[in-house]
Amino acid sequence: MQVPRYWREQSERYKLVGSKCNNCGLRVFPRRSLCPDCRHESQGQMEEVRFEGTGELVTWTRVHEALSDRELETPYLMGIVELDEGPRVTAQIVDLDPEEVEIGMELESRFRKLGEASESGVVHYGYKFGPVVSD
Ligand SMILES: [Zn+2]
Repeated sequence: MQVPRYWREQSERYKLVGSKCNNCGLRVFPRRSLCPDCRHESQGQMEEVRFEGTGELVTWTRVHEALSDRELETPYLMGIVELDEGPRVTAQIVDLDPEEVEIGMELESRFRKLGEASESGVVHYGYKFGPVVSD
């Protein structure tokens, strides 16, 4: 059975689905049909992978401007998280006050609904990152 395109795209947003190149082993996010390193050599060798959603904060910034079509409270935090598997993801950082944020800290993805997707902004993606909650 064919999974409807809409649901495939939804699952990609919520579950951090990317690609792994079986030619060189590089993992990329979001999903790509060609490896950025191997290019045409990776044709047909890209495999879909799901990332765990944990990683390390590489850099972050405080955003003061509201995006017109979003309901984000300002200021909010945006960061780049390097996933344990390698790829870097730009996402909103949640559940942390700016004074609590440290570069290099462990974060994990939160699959919260973002409201209507924006066509323009990075917050378009349906995930955010927050501190690791231990069970
Ligand atoms: Zn490759």
